[in-house]
Amino acid sequence: MTPTPFEALPLAAPLHRVLRELNYTVPTPIQAQAIPLLLQGRDLLGCAQTGTGKTAGFALPILQALHLHPRQVRPRSCRTLVLAPTRELAGQVGKSFATYGKHVNFRHTLVYGGVGQVPQVNAMRGGVEVLVATPGRLLDLIDQRHIDLSQVEFFVLDEVDRMLDMGFLRDVKRIVAMLPAKRQSLFFSATLAPNIVELARTILRDPAHINIMPETTTAENIDQQVCFLAREDKRPLLDQLLRGQAAAVGQKLTIVFSRTKHGANKLAKSLCAAGFAADAIHGNKSQAAREKALDRFKRGLTPVLVATDVAARGVDVKDVGLVVNFDLPNEPEAYVHRIGRTARAGADGRAVSFCSEDELEFLREIEKIIRMPIPRWDAHAWHIEALAERHRRGKSVGGEPPKPAPGAQRGGQHHHFGRNRRRSGVGR
Ligand code: AMP
Repeated sequence: MTPTPFEALPLAAPLHRVLRELNYTVPTPIQAQAIPLLLQGRDLLGCAQTGTGKTAGFALPILQALHLHPRQVRPRSCRTLVLAPTRELAGQVGKSFATYGKHVNFRHTLVYGGVGQVPQVNAMRGGVEVLVATPGRLLDLIDQRHIDLSQVEFFVLDEVDRMLDMGFLRDVKRIVAMLPAKRQSLFFSATLAPNIVELARTILRDPAHINIMPETTTAENIDQQVCFLAREDKRPLLDQLLRGQAAAVGQKLTIVFSRTKHGANKLAKSLCAAGFAADAIHGNKSQAAREKALDRFKRGLTPVLVATDVAARGVDVKDVGLVVNFDLPNEPEAYVHRIGRTARAGADGRAVSFCSEDELEFLREIEKIIRMPIPRWDAHAWHIEALAERHRRGKSVGGEPPKPAPGAQRGGQHHHFGRNRRRSGVGR
């Protein structure tokens, strides 16, 4: 079936014009499904990751409504509220509205923590059409009566899974309680765990469902590999990968994931000392420092970015050809997000995960949620066959994996490998 071009969608002239300027000819699957439903005024429950084009999927119909139905906005109010888990993502969504709404007459602003509130309060004083906010600072400004949510017509919750991981459930519920009942609500999450579906039920009214990335599968155009090696050999293997990447043609940017902020700093420093242009982003850095690092990365000036999970959330850089999990994440869902930083907008990418002895349980959890084994890559000098073998056998010890009672599964297993990890730590 040939995909429908954007021209066939009933979008207003200023939107068609910007799509032509951006050279977007064909909507991505989520756009093709979401835009017509949203133009009809439906609520939406979307299971989709970033990189699927979901931002334009919700921004275009909202911009269309703002364009076709201009209205006086009351002081301190907004017609559209987008909630995002991190300031990086909020910034990116705000930028997308600015891009897609280039020929639409509307005001938009950002509200997020970690910076002074005065410019944000000033920007909200006269009201705006689109407010993109992180939950904590938004509630702060509402409590100080600088923002009023009673005029919201469009409510978007973006990356809800991450929002809940970061402990924003109570904040989100408080915010929802302040919204008018008559509104159009859009809810996006990369995974649809039961607590997320439960939350969606309390927010959406007769929603249309769209599932672009089935719950836990990873993008097909990402070449995923796992390396079994000793912790101390991770650095030399990383050097080898980075040298290969620097010599590659095309997508030369690399994101290296570290589990901790301290680890990210240390790694970036030692990479610089070894002659790689590297920088780190994590939650302890100021907003300005993070933006600067991200900008230099995007421009290829520091083609290696060492990141923690939270900081990398929403990082949307087209030319990331390689993602390295220097440490495996202890939350298996984070793996899906991490490797989604490569292969964006239809490009190909490679994701290499380092797995040392103390991380075998993490790998097992990851393979369980992506429902496939990650192909191993052993064409390097530090491969440990015994570890690979332990991983392979670990999955079939006693013939069958243990089956805890439903609901007890995750907690029980985390408890179990928490103990193992401590024990292996003591042995060192
Ligand atoms: P998102 O999932 O919204 O973060 O979008 C991922 C990337 O795809 C962004 O860099 C967009 O600029 C780009 N993009 C979104 N929609 C399209 C489209 N229909 N054609 C080409 N590129 C697109």
